[in-house]
Amino acid sequence: MSASEFEIIRRFFKRQQPPRDDVIIGIGDDAALLRVPADSELAVCMDTLVAGVHFPVSTPAAAIGHKALAVNLSDLAAMGATPAWATLSLTLPESDPVWLDNFSQGFFHLAERHGVRLVGGDTTRGPLSVTVQAHGFVPAGCALRRQGAQPGDRIYTTGTLGDAGLALQLGDPADQALRRRLDFPEPRVDAGLVLRDYATAAIDISDGLLADLGHLLETDGAGMAMGASINIDALPRSAAFTKTLQQPDLAHRDLFYALPLSAGDDYELCFTVPPYACEEMVAALSNKAVACTAIGIIERQPGIRCRKANGKVYHPATDGYQHFGGAGGG
Ligand code: ADP
Ligand code: MG
Repeated sequence: MSASEFEIIRRFFKRQQPPRDDVIIGIGDDAALLRVPADSELAVCMDTLVAGVHFPVSTPAAAIGHKALAVNLSDLAAMGATPAWATLSLTLPESDPVWLDNFSQGFFHLAERHGVRLVGGDTTRGPLSVTVQAHGFVPAGCALRRQGAQPGDRIYTTGTLGDAGLALQLGDPADQALRRRLDFPEPRVDAGLVLRDYATAAIDISDGLLADLGHLLETDGAGMAMGASINIDALPRSAAFTKTLQQPDLAHRDLFYALPLSAGDDYELCFTVPPYACEEMVAALSNKAVACTAIGIIERQPGIRCRKANGKVYHPATDGYQHFGGAGGG
């Protein structure tokens, strides 16, 4: 490693962080030494953000730092895990101190809010790309999983859907609230912890509701595929989303349905709950100030059926973002 890489690590990443007594050695040795609580399982996930693919090249550095960690904490949330540590692999075209300062502030601000400690990483030169690995704990046997939904379970989502997708669609003139959803997604960590007690299955919505819900339907554990019915008028939409789509110059009325169904980047949780547990689950989430909305039901018949409130069937144009071919593309 070159002197400047060493300097980058020292100046921007090896800084005061919230203390954790499960970090025996953090940044600075050949590897981190970490202690997992005896009664817990370790949840590990990793996500890479590539400039121009996962975020527009014009994205502010603070947003990139935030989002690189947020998408990983969102994966931990979907497992019902409590975040603990992260590692960061950074590939940079140049060593720009202003960019690095903003990037690390975005990263550490979110890390501090969740008590996450950066314990290591790698720094190299090349086209801008950021990989974060996050580690969290979950009591043994209690993790939320994609598999586990049963016919009859109600389908819920936290928060609102389509905001990030609309911001991406509009580009610069997007409403500030929408833009924030795209640049600074809030991982639903608290919701994931609550849902350990109620949900039969869970996933975070990164590729679009239809695509991610599809993963919950792949098998019921006995090897049988399932399907779902969705009420697309019931999909939760933010005030900014609805207001923006009411402007006369945005004649794309279809976005009102298409974005909440198919746009990615919202990082809400989609999960299933048996009917008898729904009321208690809604109250428990609301205690943590998390809103959730019932959007449909798991059925035996494979496929996802979208209906409007008046019962009319709706055929979505695309089923989410796929990196290598497939529907969404781009
Ligand atoms: P090595 O050459 O042994 O792989 P490095 O020189 O790459 O070690 O890294 C030195 C130390 O700095 C290690 O503890 C590593 O985990 C840490 N590190 C390197 N890059 C980063 C980064 N971007 N963020 C956090 N820690 C980093
Ligand atoms: Mg290294």
